[in-house]
Amino acid sequence: MTFLSVVFRVFRGLNIQWQWNMDKPLKAVLFDFDGTLTRPGSLDFGAIRLAIGSPAGIPILEYIATLAPGEPRDRANRILDQFEMEAAERSQPNASAEHLMAFLKSQKLKLGILTRNSLNSVNRALLNFNNIRKSDFDAIITRHDVDRPKPDPEGVILATLKMDVAPEALLVVGDYVFDIEAGRMAGARTAFLVSEATTRFPDPPADWTIKSLDELKPIFRS
Ligand SMILES: [Mg+2]
Repeated sequence: MTFLSVVFRVFRGLNIQWQWNMDKPLKAVLFDFDGTLTRPGSLDFGAIRLAIGSPAGIPILEYIATLAPGEPRDRANRILDQFEMEAAERSQPNASAEHLMAFLKSQKLKLGILTRNSLNSVNRALLNFNNIRKSDFDAIITRHDVDRPKPDPEGVILATLKMDVAPEALLVVGDYVFDIEAGRMAGARTAFLVSEATTRFPDPPADWTIKSLDELKPIFRS
């Protein structure tokens, strides 16, 4: 462990935030979908890799992009779409997700989703929410809306344009290192949701590290 990482962990443990961060009001929140707004674990990435023939060490979307255009790539996309739709049908809202979004709406914050999944699967999964629906979001950005999915910042920047907010007024929330990298590279603030199901890296250096979505509420209380 390097000296810097020790300092970082101590600061994070004390939950100290930089003052300049706290002075700028947040106007919008961009959520990752799987494992952030929904309960983690509904997508079985191992099974998808096996079905597509996607090797470990390269993310699935990036692997599919290396396949020849036409049937090889189309077949992989069909398999992925099918897995995602089956996962969406059984997915459930994450703990506190609906509660937090109702609170954010009451605070007049804009809401968005940025996901590497398809729009169809997001729409289907949102049907399993009780109080939140598609129309509650000012932007839903899926893999079909960008040339380069997360960790590239393209989707975050597109979301700021759709939500009409500056990157520094946006909070990106996600449970995977890609979410935090994309948010940081776009100039947004970031919150990392620790998840035993999906976190395989050391926690990325987000502005906030949380274990429950509820922990975000104090950030928005004026
Ligand atoms: Mg996720």
